[in-house]
Amino acid sequence: MAFSNELRTTFQQELSNIQQAGIFKEERIIHAPQSSEIDVVFPAGSEKKHVLNLCANNYLGLSSHPEVVKAAHEGLDSRGYGMSSVRFICGTQDIHKELERKLTKFLGTEDTILFPSCMDANAGVFEAILTEQDIMIADRLVHASIVDGMRLCKAQQDTFKHSDMDHLEKKLQLHQDKRSRMIITDGAFSMDGDLARMDKIVELAEKYNSMVFIDDSHASGFIGKTGRGTHEHFGVVGKIDVITTTLGKALGGASGGCVSGRKEIVELCRQKARPYLFSNTIPPVVVAAANKVLDIITSTTERRDKLEKNTQFWRKGLTEAGFIIKEGETPIVPVMLFNAKLSQDFSKDLYYEGIYVVGFFFPVVPKGQARIRTQLSAAHEMHQLQKALKAFIKIGKKYDILHKTKEEIIEKYGL
Ligand SMILES: *Cc1c(COP(=O)(O)O)cnc(C)c1O
Repeated sequence: MAFSNELRTTFQQELSNIQQAGIFKEERIIHAPQSSEIDVVFPAGSEKKHVLNLCANNYLGLSSHPEVVKAAHEGLDSRGYGMSSVRFICGTQDIHKELERKLTKFLGTEDTILFPSCMDANAGVFEAILTEQDIMIADRLVHASIVDGMRLCKAQQDTFKHSDMDHLEKKLQLHQDKRSRMIITDGAFSMDGDLARMDKIVELAEKYNSMVFIDDSHASGFIGKTGRGTHEHFGVVGKIDVITTTLGKALGGASGGCVSGRKEIVELCRQKARPYLFSNTIPPVVVAAANKVLDIITSTTERRDKLEKNTQFWRKGLTEAGFIIKEGETPIVPVMLFNAKLSQDFSKDLYYEGIYVVGFFFPVVPKGQARIRTQLSAAHEMHQLQKALKAFIKIGKKYDILHKTKEEIIEKYGL
């Protein structure tokens, strides 16, 4: 037998190490469509609970929106279920091109190419355009999919301290001898909910002759006055050379991603990007629904405006109640608890209060920075957020962490 008992023991040992380290991940099973309220069974085998959902990336509340579901049905009827092909062989329909055009217009770029996911977009784009003579300079907190994409690319690599513009400038000076430079960053960072300083980054890119790349997965659809993303927020639309983003968060939440930007870069991706060439097309049903999503969000800013209101209410409410949150303006609102076990106990108690959130701790966030990451949605109604706030305050009192300093919380619970 090739899968020997010895091998099995090795794998079992690794799994039990993960368990002992307290970082074993368990799926939480949802018995309902993705929404502001969901039915969850967790832990496995327990009773189904109806809870308020504060941990989805469903920022615009479009994941189960009736118009989006209807468009998906129509897409299924008019363009079928599967394409059974990659894009360049026989996997491109009129609706795929339509979606690329709509994304280009929405993001304010020159051209767009769809990928099966944003993970694939990031896996393909660097290798398709950069060589050994080029340098990629990335923020140290970029998303894992960017790290992987950079690994697949032969260009040289360097990093700058998170959002540290002086450090980035030093690195740009250091790498003036390379053929080209590319500054690489997330637009909105998913763990802290902060925005990259795109105005500064573009300024430095112009000063030091560098391209700019952003992954706007946690921003596309709602950051900026009309929801176009981080570049809109900072007034630098048209100045970003490469934007990658996902359809799997605010933009309907199903799946799919894209590279959008300078037309030559996008064309090189069509010629060379491996996930585009060797992985299947986004299915017609998803494309049809995504087209509808783009129609909805370009016809009105109502949903992103509501999200902004919800976010302001939530940030203000938590702060006034005496929680320590990561300041910012995005709908990603981390409630800092510092201690890993406290973050787990706190989220469990909230679950029994009917509030569904997840505690994050090392290695997902740095040691001693455990937190509950809450995420707002345009699908949330004010009465739901009021209920959630009440529950947070009740559990906050139970653990006696309200109106306490970071040091006081750490002294009580340790790191
Ligand atoms: C979620 C996310 C991705 C992955 O998107 P998928 O389309 O699900 O692969 C990539 N980058 C960032 C910054 C993300 O937040």
